[in-house]
Amino acid sequence: MSDSIFTELEPLLAEVNRPVQYVGGEVNAITKDWDSATVRWVLLYPDAYEVGAPNQGLQILYEVLNERPDVLAERAYAIWPDLEALLRSNGLPAFTIDGHRPLRSFDVIGVSLATELGYTNLLTSIDVAGLPLHSRDRTDADPLLVVGGHAAFNPEPIADFVDAVVLGDGEEAVLSLTEFLRDWKQQGAPGGRKELLRRLAASGQFYVPSFYDVRYADDGAIESVVPNRPGVPWTIAKHTLMDLDEWPYPKAPVVPVAETVHERASTEIFRGCTRGCRFCQAGMITRPVRERSASTVAEMVDHSLAKTGYREVGLLSLSSADHSEIGKLAEGLADRYEGTMTSLSLPSTRVDAFNIDLANELSRNGRRSGLTFAPEGGSERLRKVINKTVTEEDLIRTVSAAYGSGWRAVKLYFMCGLPTETDDDVLQIAELARRVIEAGREISGRRDIRCTVSIGGFVPKPQTPFQWAGQLGHEETDRRLRLLGEALRADRNYARAIGFRYHDGRPGMVEGLLARGDRRVGAVIEEVWRRGGRFDGWSEHFDFDLWRSCAEDLWEDQPISLSWFTTRERTRDEILPWQHLDAGLDADWLWQDWQDALAEDEVGDCRWTPCSACGVCDVMDTMIQIGPRPQSAAEWAPPTGVGARSPAERSGADG
Ligand code: SF4
Repeated sequence: MSDSIFTELEPLLAEVNRPVQYVGGEVNAITKDWDSATVRWVLLYPDAYEVGAPNQGLQILYEVLNERPDVLAERAYAIWPDLEALLRSNGLPAFTIDGHRPLRSFDVIGVSLATELGYTNLLTSIDVAGLPLHSRDRTDADPLLVVGGHAAFNPEPIADFVDAVVLGDGEEAVLSLTEFLRDWKQQGAPGGRKELLRRLAASGQFYVPSFYDVRYADDGAIESVVPNRPGVPWTIAKHTLMDLDEWPYPKAPVVPVAETVHERASTEIFRGCTRGCRFCQAGMITRPVRERSASTVAEMVDHSLAKTGYREVGLLSLSSADHSEIGKLAEGLADRYEGTMTSLSLPSTRVDAFNIDLANELSRNGRRSGLTFAPEGGSERLRKVINKTVTEEDLIRTVSAAYGSGWRAVKLYFMCGLPTETDDDVLQIAELARRVIEAGREISGRRDIRCTVSIGGFVPKPQTPFQWAGQLGHEETDRRLRLLGEALRADRNYARAIGFRYHDGRPGMVEGLLARGDRRVGAVIEEVWRRGGRFDGWSEHFDFDLWRSCAEDLWEDQPISLSWFTTRERTRDEILPWQHLDAGLDADWLWQDWQDALAEDEVGDCRWTPCSACGVCDVMDTMIQIGPRPQSAAEWAPPTGVGARSPAERSGADG
């Protein structure tokens, strides 16, 4: 039995900002009987409730686990410093928001790492939960701490704090881990947590960092990464979920009680992306493309709306307009919700995949959402480097179509500091924005056309062709952004029509350190946290000087530094910290793609051009899944009142 701490917590909530984020009890939240569960999970999102509550990954796993009768899963989010101080002073532990149970009472804490800037929050949760900070100090009485998500593709900077790591899709992995745990518990926990971790590692499905020794050479580079016991594999491969139709989650998304970053239901329409944008870690690590069929998407949208009461549905993926049935899907859903003020949206649209019919269908029944396009690079040359094969003509044609159909504003997203970028590449963004306004004024005959240029600093990520690139320093990023701002303001004819939003370069340096760091970065994370670092993804909390001074203090006598991890270009023969973690991408293919980037050579999308042999399908024994399923339109129409079913339900098994 684990008791709720809500009685002690409630009086403290009156003293903190936005207490509603800690109370739970939302529509579709799940609380299960503690004693009937054989395995109990906390799903922790190490950022604020307003960011974490709509997170798809966490919502999916919450349902997948809770559908099993003997498994219980509750949610937890990062606690803000005001509540952290009160919990500490009152001797109360970190808790879940569903049952308000102490995190330490659970069997496993599964952490979803969407970005690296949540690492200090993770340490807060571990510490306030009463767990030893370091994995090596935990006892059999402590839960397992398991991390997954995109940032887990290089977990080395947090290797000392985590017990195990899941790479790739989580649905099957959490069920597999549950079985390992259940068996081990039912056998009387033989060999303690070490034996449980050994079983997880030996299965090849989970990475247990403490079972690998990392050695460093005198120049600071990694000399070797070696398993330190028998039966542990040299490399660990990612999980890939095939046939998304068999996993139609979330079926009943939790409706947050506090304001969050997305106020809508979301349905994932495909996973993976093979466009090959070289900067994009998400695209690289989620290959191959696996589409959900239009009929399943329609069923899921129907159920999400019925279960949540939302009037907007986001059709999610890395590039939603690329779904092979997107036109049919948008038209079918618009017909279905005719007259209901229900709108559909795509998170952002590729310039070359956008078409005006699609945009009109999406907004037919509800409000017209803004249009965001992401050319990413200002010049055509730079777009070849990053393999974002969009010409200026494509962009002008696309935005002209939007302005001509009644849109008054578009947002264009770019990055600063891409490999080989020059001042001229950045200044061409201003020229592009001027041409966009010019085209909009011409086609609409109006002067109130607007375009917002939004730009952030580029951070090279692991498992991408740019993993070897040197990151642009923050002073230089800021100088180029200033240059662009001046150019945008210089022309009085356009200045008022063009908005300019930018992020300064400093958070990107810390993100770069955490993204491509090795185990030695863990000490810096811990020191920053001990000196008060929290919520690094929030500009009002982020403290660059704190990170810089901790790195300088700890690495004073070492060949490594903040710039060693960020602005330094790597050579082909350097052992990268994540080299033993296999996203399926062939290292030679990635290196060749990096060389092709420098030569401004583009590579095609394997959905429409021949396989470029990135290695994923061979290594992971997977394949691209696209195309209509089922074929007939009659079959496609969403059956009212029939719920999407889980694999367990379909087979008549448990759940
Ligand atoms: S192996 Fe070929 S088909 Fe599969 S994702 Fe890579 S490039 Fe595409």
